[in-house]
Amino acid sequence: MSDSVFRNYIAGEWVDGNKNNIDNISPADTKDNIGKYAQADKAQTLAAIEAAKLGQAEWEKSGLEQRYSVLMAIGDELIARKDELGELLAREEGKTLAEGAGETYRSGQFFHYYAAEVLRQMGETTDSVRPGVEIETRREPVGVVGIITPWNFPTATGAWKIAPALAYGNSVVWKPANQVPASAWALTEIISRQGLPAGTVNLVMGPGAEVGDTLIHSKEINALTFTGSLETGRKVAVATAVNLIKCQLEMGSKNALIVLDDADIDNAVECAVGGAFGGTGQKCTASSRLIVTEGIHDEFVAKMTERMKKLVVGHPLKEGVHIGAVADARQMEQNLSYLELAKKEGGELAYGGEVLTEEADGYYMQPALFTNTTNQMTINREEAFAPIACIIKVADYSEALKTLNDTNFGLVGGICTTSLKYANDFKRNAKTGCAMINLPTAGTDYHVPFGGRKDSSFGPREQGTYAKEFYTVVKTTYMRT
Ligand code: NAD
Repeated sequence: MSDSVFRNYIAGEWVDGNKNNIDNISPADTKDNIGKYAQADKAQTLAAIEAAKLGQAEWEKSGLEQRYSVLMAIGDELIARKDELGELLAREEGKTLAEGAGETYRSGQFFHYYAAEVLRQMGETTDSVRPGVEIETRREPVGVVGIITPWNFPTATGAWKIAPALAYGNSVVWKPANQVPASAWALTEIISRQGLPAGTVNLVMGPGAEVGDTLIHSKEINALTFTGSLETGRKVAVATAVNLIKCQLEMGSKNALIVLDDADIDNAVECAVGGAFGGTGQKCTASSRLIVTEGIHDEFVAKMTERMKKLVVGHPLKEGVHIGAVADARQMEQNLSYLELAKKEGGELAYGGEVLTEEADGYYMQPALFTNTTNQMTINREEAFAPIACIIKVADYSEALKTLNDTNFGLVGGICTTSLKYANDFKRNAKTGCAMINLPTAGTDYHVPFGGRKDSSFGPREQGTYAKEFYTVVKTTYMRT
């Protein structure tokens, strides 16, 4: 067990928390204590916001080359340390080492991408409708940005919010999820060495009910970006609306992958396995619904089951492991209750779902596949965030599309088909923010917009150049010539 205390970062100083430190226990092995992490309270969160106001006023004045260099340096270090930080991430979150290293590498790419964006900030000029008057339209920083992130992508969600925030001249108060403070601390430590004005980036680890609640109710921030559950997202929307604070929400989903009779079946199985069970199924992009047409259904189930038997569940740092640990005891309990519910509602367990106890002292379960489910069952309506996939048998493409769209969510939808006609139709008619054709639903790029519809997202899109809608405000200046 480690005795180190990892502290919060406020106004350019590492500070103890006003509340008791918490232990960061690995879900992969509950004997592995990663360290003690400080816990901020309301007063410290308010202090971080005040510091961010001062930091932002300075950072806004920084030259573009300085911003470019800072973002490049952060990206370089994340990429150079991807294995070490990926291991830390895997230990605290439970995903495999390959997934942890991949997430860290991708986080570095976000910083590199937005470093380049710093140099592409162009305004527009035009003539007024009145002779002798010129108009200039430019973007300015939105100001102090509150950032609240979930546990399932501890480094990447921070990176894809902090990088554009800094690129466009803003300051940040970051509240990470309390299950995964180590990755947030490590990223902040890298940022703390880049010579930013004090208060430009603040880290306030602590409980959502106090630190998060203070942040979302603050009138002193200018924008709040949140990734997490629908339930918390609604609270964020209400709190920020009262103060008319700009808000961006990325929340849960209930994504589906359609497999048509004409699909390349081996590719469809790979898409389904990767999409449903990658990250132990704990992804907002996970395809937990598999909508399969009648003609291919039985063969697909047989091949999927055979493929799942080859998936190795185990300690995230062990070689050859495909699926790591479930994030914590509460998540494990939730997974098992959805398994029971699926059975009770009439689903047939075709494979998996066993709790695995022979691995280290952690939370492990086999991925599960249900057949004979309908889209109306609770297991196909609520986000389980588990390695559980349910097959819904349908007659044809048109029923498949209707079923895919019949959900309160709308983040990602996928289809496996060799038909250009159906692929094209799907592209236009899937009511989702992202559409995948012959690809898994999970796995998005960093240079293009990401987000969903309905209960999955609210506010401007994240990532790519679209991020500037959230992180900037537009100013239109009129000048007599
Ligand atoms: P969560 O809503 O429980 O927590 C998210 C964050 O909100 C945490 O930092 C938490 O401490 C904080 N929080 C909790 N209560 C709060 C409150 N009252 N006020 C302010 N902040 C509060 O979500 P989670 O369990 O950490 O993450 C899983 C969820 O995140 C899933 O629904 C998943 O789909 C979603 N997610 C979405 C995306 C996306 O981009 N759409 C990406 C990753 C995860």
